[in-house]
Amino acid sequence: MEMDKLVSLCKRRGFLFQSSEIYGGLNGFWDYGPLGVELKRNVKDAWWNEMVRGHDELLVHAGAPSTYEMTGLDCTIIMHPQVWKCSGHYDLFHDFMVDCRESKKRYRHDQVRGRWVSYNGQRIFVGTQAEIGHEEEDTQHRALKFFNLRAKDAERLAWEGDFISLTKVSNFAEVLAPDAKTLGTLTEPREFNLMFKTYVGALSGEEGAAFLRPETAQGIFVNFKNVLDSSRVAIPFGIAQIGKSFRNEITPRNFTFRSREFEQMEIEFFCHPSQSRQWYQYWRDRRYKWYLDLGLAGERLRLRDHDQDELSHYSCGTADIEYAFPFLPSGEFGELEGIAHRGDFDLRSHMEGKLAKDAAGNLAVELGEDGKPRHRGSGKDLSYFDDQARERYVPHVIEPSAGADRATLAFLCESYHEDKVPDENGNPRERVFLKLHPRLAPIKAAVFPLVKKDGMPEVAQKIYRDLKQHFNAFYDEKGAVGRRYARQDEVGTPYCITVDGETMQNGSVTIRDRDSLKQWRVRGDEAVTEISKLLRGTT
Ligand code: ATP
Repeated sequence: MEMDKLVSLCKRRGFLFQSSEIYGGLNGFWDYGPLGVELKRNVKDAWWNEMVRGHDELLVHAGAPSTYEMTGLDCTIIMHPQVWKCSGHYDLFHDFMVDCRESKKRYRHDQVRGRWVSYNGQRIFVGTQAEIGHEEEDTQHRALKFFNLRAKDAERLAWEGDFISLTKVSNFAEVLAPDAKTLGTLTEPREFNLMFKTYVGALSGEEGAAFLRPETAQGIFVNFKNVLDSSRVAIPFGIAQIGKSFRNEITPRNFTFRSREFEQMEIEFFCHPSQSRQWYQYWRDRRYKWYLDLGLAGERLRLRDHDQDELSHYSCGTADIEYAFPFLPSGEFGELEGIAHRGDFDLRSHMEGKLAKDAAGNLAVELGEDGKPRHRGSGKDLSYFDDQARERYVPHVIEPSAGADRATLAFLCESYHEDKVPDENGNPRERVFLKLHPRLAPIKAAVFPLVKKDGMPEVAQKIYRDLKQHFNAFYDEKGAVGRRYARQDEVGTPYCITVDGETMQNGSVTIRDRDSLKQWRVRGDEAVTEISKLLRGTT
């Protein structure tokens, strides 16, 4: 699938718009249009309903070591600045960037790609930021310009190996930056903290400084005790949250995949340390299955365990659920969700202060030059007391952390299909349809009167109103019916109901299935039951 086609469909049909578009847009920010908001809400609802509201705490779920409880939270975006100091985000949440002295542009170090090329005894690394598929063209064009050659001389350039990341290049004097004409214009990589800073209240100095949360997880940790004290949950249990997060990404790109404002769906699952490995395994498999069940099947979805050297300093296991997005180079995958075994790192950090590995390799409060804790914790007791076992301990945490926007984008990419269907005259017509899981489809059913007369609109409107009581439905009486089907296919509506001449004689209507294109008749007063049954059959 070509990404350009999906991007244009998203704009044309109201799934996604660039934020502040009338002012030229703002890089890294996206708005969901009328259909996009329904789709994303369905993704979030599918997650919340399955993980939290619909969770059966009396059943032992397949693969789980025992029964468990689930509950939810909705925390603020701006929190006490000490939260980010203890979580490690203040000191450690950064990417490396490089600046170009010539073009004045800034790039993420690992996101500049390029290729080595030689001509006439000189070897240079040509960097590029071109989209996948245009990299070759861009680097060739710029290498020719650099060496003062014409297009017809392209064969005289000796290219070496594949495209690689700038992180693999040590001598920047040999680098032609993506927007530069001369060599060696990039600065050495520097750290750049990704948290957005703001000021609370009238204090504009550092006293009032605060941050927009870069993840929703910390709100859960700092409320751990509140949830324990106010509800009857007992370990093992999970707290879930859906909400906005903000990261000042250096190079937002690939549509909504890397945005600066996005939504996360996170669970912090608290368990006894002796059971944490089993729970990690459970959540890893459970979350993978969620994507499979909603239609991300096949070779494009994978579950990848991190290598030992990729793990965060506190983690004893992390797995990513990844999707082969069409905008990535072939064979590459992008992260949809990370499932991390975080041990007792977070709760201990918020009790004792920011932790780091000591000389013996154990986690201990990190000390500053003055010998005092570098960032002091809350001093509150966040341990757990098990009444039955008469045991006190700091629970271990398993964290399945997903992105609502990345999941929505993956479902859109996976669902995009093109085929040929016969038109009214039997000639083949190009058809574009989104094969979205009916649970995710923004519109569940559309109702059409075949013509705008003979009482058909009134009958169709009655069915439409009945449907609307149960789910999102759409009524359309404009233009040829073939066009109306095509418009619904393009936005992934699984069923269309048509009221025609036969309806006026015997009360029956046609139902058309988006994927198989099969049509069959049911009684008009049974249309709602029939559609509900079809939707249920697929959930
Ligand atoms: P990446 O390596 O792609 O930057 P990450 O490992 O930093 O992602 P996490 O911190 O694990 O991401 O965040 C959890 C989830 O939040 C990710 O799996 C992703 O779905 C989502 N997410 C993170 N950053 C962004 C972003 N800039 N735009 C959209 N979604 C994001």
